[in-house]
Amino acid sequence: MTSERAPQHTAASTGAGVSGRSDAAHEAQCRRCGVSCHLAIPVNDVPVMIPGLRCQYLAPTSTGFDCTVYADRFKVAPWCHHADVAGPQGFLARDCPYVLAEGFGRGKIRLSRQQYDRYWPAILGELLRVGVPEWIHRAALLSMLTAREGGVWQLTATSDGLLPTRRSADDDSRSDEQ
Ligand code: SF4
Repeated sequence: MTSERAPQHTAASTGAGVSGRSDAAHEAQCRRCGVSCHLAIPVNDVPVMIPGLRCQYLAPTSTGFDCTVYADRFKVAPWCHHADVAGPQGFLARDCPYVLAEGFGRGKIRLSRQQYDRYWPAILGELLRVGVPEWIHRAALLSMLTAREGGVWQLTATSDGLLPTRRSADDDSRSDEQ
């Protein structure tokens, strides 16, 4: 199942930015799938993109995803890497046009619904063990956890990022007393 390695606390984008190409032809290759802007967790040593665990600046659209800070992303999102930097490190989608064109041969993959359901216990275990980076979209993560596991979830800040935990009845009664 999952390895001991931490989730990939990285995200990537295409286009102009830190030491990367920005011409129109390069930009046009992006299919707006959003995979590169989602967190990946290793499952059997393969980086698996986790739906619902995305950069706080990534917004779903009717056909895919869009970055809401694209022009300024390298200023406001220091975790964001240009595709030219991210591709060789495996931070883009494995079937991304940039990855295929450059022949990197590595990257994040999307599981089928059935595969995702099968590996969910291991994915959840890794999320609860390692936590997530602070740049993720918190509401999307909490919503995903509630949809999958039920209950009410919270995020606690740690030295490495955020740790998801399920709120207990004790937590609720303490907050009622405050
Ligand atoms: S800022 Fe976030 S959403 Fe925008 S390109 Fe970078 S990782 Fe993707």
